[in-house]
Amino acid sequence: MNSGTMLNAYPDSLGGTLTDIAALLEKPELQGAFRSFYILPSVFTTDLDRGFSVISYDLDKQLTSPGDMDRLRALGMDLKLDFILNHLSVQSPQFQDMIQKGEASEYRDFFINWNKFWEGRGQMTEAGYIQPDEQYIQDMFFRKPGLPILMVQFPDGREVPYWNTFYQEVKTDPETGKRSYLGQMDVNIQSPLVWQYYEEVLDKLASYGASIVRLDAFGYASKIPGRRNFMNEPETWEILERIRQMAEKRGLTLLPEIHAAYGEGSYKTLAQKGYMSYDFFLPGLLIDAIENHDAGYLIRWAREQKENDIRCVNMLGCHDGIPLLDLKGLVPDERIQGLIDLIVSRGGLIKNLHGKKNMYYQVNATYFSALGCDEKKLLLARALQLFMPGKPQVWYLDLFAGENDIEAVRRGGEAGHKEINRTNLTADEISRRLQWPIVQKQLALLKMRNTCPAFGFDAEMRIRQEAGGNLRIIWENRGKRAVLVANLETYDFTVQAD
Ligand code: BGC
Repeated sequence: MNSGTMLNAYPDSLGGTLTDIAALLEKPELQGAFRSFYILPSVFTTDLDRGFSVISYDLDKQLTSPGDMDRLRALGMDLKLDFILNHLSVQSPQFQDMIQKGEASEYRDFFINWNKFWEGRGQMTEAGYIQPDEQYIQDMFFRKPGLPILMVQFPDGREVPYWNTFYQEVKTDPETGKRSYLGQMDVNIQSPLVWQYYEEVLDKLASYGASIVRLDAFGYASKIPGRRNFMNEPETWEILERIRQMAEKRGLTLLPEIHAAYGEGSYKTLAQKGYMSYDFFLPGLLIDAIENHDAGYLIRWAREQKENDIRCVNMLGCHDGIPLLDLKGLVPDERIQGLIDLIVSRGGLIKNLHGKKNMYYQVNATYFSALGCDEKKLLLARALQLFMPGKPQVWYLDLFAGENDIEAVRRGGEAGHKEINRTNLTADEISRRLQWPIVQKQLALLKMRNTCPAFGFDAEMRIRQEAGGNLRIIWENRGKRAVLVANLETYDFTVQAD
């Protein structure tokens, strides 16, 4: 995988459709700023969770036109697309077939019937689902309060619980009392049909011209009674290896997505097994370095990556929140808490996992707002990101200096916290912001990063703290050099690049 910069957006983030984004990227201001483009999965046919609940991998005709992907690739960009292997929408043909035909459906084992899964290992409740015995679930990792189930209605009136790790939406019509529901239904990794479906998905992603495949939430795929059911080992690694072989046949590079505390070392295991991974430490480390005027932890992480050949895609913001808890084990707990408090004081929102305060998952805020809407800080964060090891991914709203969108959170209702950082920009708004110095200066840095040959996964990097608060990062490759000198007191910096 090349280490050039990567744009990240929903197909409707910038102007309305993917066609609009292609036109935007063809403008001289943007040309050369990106080598790759991660298009979020609402580009497919989806319902909930802004794309992560897939009905089918056919492209959404409202948001794309034929030829969009080719047009993007003609700009010299490679494409990154999602493979959401843990779940599929209630509205997918597979789930619908199962509901319609019940036991006669070829998809009867494609999803996870909760009661079959736990049979003999718990007590049936009045509501019709098995409550597993404590010994089986005491170590299990839960993403949401209560059991991860959705009660599914079959045509004969039966209600059957199905495994549903992530989002669901259940509505009851006040007049008819009829219940309607959506959900991201976990698929059964034990079913041969699921593996056949995986082959089809990878074929489709390859046919769109993808070269990088993001493996969404893969840590939830393996499910075994009595286990943690998140990153079960060794099963998760076996699943990953099987998918890697399928992907390699199609010329696809996997990018597995996992959030875990630094101290757990999953990023290391991924690297040792030869996978790229996400650098979910950098967003917090940059805020820490900037706000505490101290690059100690940042330097430690940069060196660790180079010394151990850990190859990451890194970022400032992304479609999810700022993952501060991932820093546990690298940065002291009180210092992490200080960062969380600071971002919250600047309007950030916290989603905590089933009410446990020490299990905050992410802090929802735009990166610009997290930095107190200080343009100097944002520009410095971008420069530092581009000089850190890895392939830099750029959330469109950070490029355009987006602030917390409180109104969108309100509109989003119960699951609306992530909307704070997902504002769609109109073509007019983009034209206006392209005049802003904070946008133009970021674009200039991005173009520098893509044209200067000093950067690269195999290039040499040195990083050190100097007297007077200066941080110096030097890249060297093929006789070329790039140097960043950044002052963490004043936030001034200089870049010199061959
Ligand atoms: C994505 C989330 C999504 C979840 C379920 C992730 O890790 O980044 O946005 O809600 O997977 O698909």
